[in-house]
Amino acid sequence: MSSIQSYDNSQALILIVDDLPQNLQVLGSILRKSKYQIAVATNGQQAIDVLKNISPDLILLDVMMPGIDGHEVCRRLKEQDSTRDISIIFLTAKSETDDIVKGFELGAVDYITKPFNATELLARVKTHVELKKNRDVILNLIDELEGKNRILEKLAVTDSLTRIFNHSHIIDRLNNEICAAQRHGDPLTITMFDIDHFKSINDTYGHQVGDDVLVEVTNTIKEALREIDIIGRYGGEEFLVVMRKTDRHGCFIASERIRKNIEALTWDHDNLHVNISGGIGAIEHENDSAASMIKRADECLYLAKENGRNRIECGEK
Ligand SMILES: [Mg+2]
Repeated sequence: MSSIQSYDNSQALILIVDDLPQNLQVLGSILRKSKYQIAVATNGQQAIDVLKNISPDLILLDVMMPGIDGHEVCRRLKEQDSTRDISIIFLTAKSETDDIVKGFELGAVDYITKPFNATELLARVKTHVELKKNRDVILNLIDELEGKNRILEKLAVTDSLTRIFNHSHIIDRLNNEICAAQRHGDPLTITMFDIDHFKSINDTYGHQVGDDVLVEVTNTIKEALREIDIIGRYGGEEFLVVMRKTDRHGCFIASERIRKNIEALTWDHDNLHVNISGGIGAIEHENDSAASMIKRADECLYLAKENGRNRIECGEK
């Protein structure tokens, strides 16, 4: 009978599958003496069933069994995600060289010949249990590294103060969006926002307040954007917003809303008012790039500043 009981993690767990009770007994006693935990199954189906409940470090699998033989059990275990990575050692008679070759082809890591030699058996089991342990350690490390890499990748594209995309990444994203828009024939617009008189905010209230203003302005812009829009910190007090599938008119309406939302913010400091100006750029030519669109938006932004600030300019068209 299979023995399903609770196993602790301190000792390796080995599943022995053999149709002969005396084989199970001999193997079991050799392995137990070396402090391995043992689970047993007396036929192929039972082995497959037992593996739904336990995850051994190693399987010792008899080849010749009535019903589902060892090779078929191995084949089925290698098909399942949950059992694919469990190491299998086949138990074969010395003369069955064809079995040995087939076992390796099916994904076994080793074989042990009957009658069992305790020293050889323990040496092979120990090797594969340790390989499994090392593999688990490496897999955990890879997991950990992948997690850390994802954090690093995020940091590499993020502005540390405002938590939106940084200068180089927003330009990369804009270039990607220009290609996508050109390919699909979609409109695409950008707005370059600039906080009015930001230097005097810093000079009057200090850089801490200046930073607070940058964060609050960022959040206010973000709240007004749709999921599909992209925002980045272009420079000190400049924000670049990319509006996908949006024409100049739609971009102007959205940018005006943002400007008004900023204007309506209330601040904890006497006489502090924050306004932004914005300049819009749209795709106009086949060979447009981030640089050409930003140049257009910058010209409009310059015009907004010239025309008294706290306003959005969208160019002629
Ligand atoms: Mg047998």
